[in-house]
Amino acid sequence: MGSLSKEELEEKLATYVGRETEEPQIALDAVNEAMIRHWCEALGDENPVYTDAAAAAESVHGGMVAPPTMMQAWILDGIPMATPETQQMNMIREIHKLLTDNGYSGVVATNSEQGYARYLRPGDRIATTTVIESVSDEKATALGIGYFINTKETFRDHNGEEVGWQTFRVLKFKPAEQPQAAAPADSSGAPPKPKRLRPPLGHDNGWWWEGVNDGKLLIQKCKDCGELRHPPRPMCGNCQSIEWDSVSSSGRGTVYTFTVMQYPKFPGYEYPFVCALIELEEGTRVISNVVGCEAADVSIGMKVELSIENVDEDLKLPLFRPVA
Ligand SMILES: [Zn+2]
Repeated sequence: MGSLSKEELEEKLATYVGRETEEPQIALDAVNEAMIRHWCEALGDENPVYTDAAAAAESVHGGMVAPPTMMQAWILDGIPMATPETQQMNMIREIHKLLTDNGYSGVVATNSEQGYARYLRPGDRIATTTVIESVSDEKATALGIGYFINTKETFRDHNGEEVGWQTFRVLKFKPAEQPQAAAPADSSGAPPKPKRLRPPLGHDNGWWWEGVNDGKLLIQKCKDCGELRHPPRPMCGNCQSIEWDSVSSSGRGTVYTFTVMQYPKFPGYEYPFVCALIELEEGTRVISNVVGCEAADVSIGMKVELSIENVDEDLKLPLFRPVA
């Protein structure tokens, strides 16, 4: 495969348009209360018609129903989705492979819409069929040139009745060439070291960054109710006051949660690095990096202290180091 001419490729792409996937995709599990409950827990949806049989029986539904927005969850493949090479070829994967083989290796989902014909109930068994509705002409985008593929998936219950639909649009693109570093090499001949992304500075947060440059970690404090807040913003989320002040943090805190960044690698960052939510002893939380130890040594609850450091010659950041 590979390296078709543009005409050949587009001719081939056109053969997919309007076709329905041969085999309906059938849900691994019937709609069930356990999955509904997990979904509601994960999303913080406390509507009792989804999780409380007695309340649901009293409602207009007369019994438990699934959140409509959960529709797609019923037919997803689970873990095998993460290893596409083990999945059976279907028309969608075929068209993606055709484009990948011809240099359009990038993929990004651009938009999706759903519609619902009725609530799903425990016991419903969902199956879907998918139609490739259209493939665009070759388009130039910020990501590179590529093709938009529109699909529409129809969701049906075990009686073959339509219960909803979902459209999905992806862009399959040729990743644009990385621009060559234009800056001159330094005296050693090495190209200049790329810098970290700059924080966006504005009216609402400039004062906070000035604090950092002065060696302080400031926390915004509502003048009316005393609530602390971070990141900086104009209005108190507690009492809606726009009067505020700030206090200087002691810099002592604990790791509330964290993640280790491995990929994708942005220029200016050294990988892996630890991105952590730090709970300050004042009672508010900030996102920062934990430095001065191996990523593997960071743990939830670990005591850390503020260290305002230059990450390059003109950017200071409030970082955190393990307490000795
Ligand atoms: Zn307030």
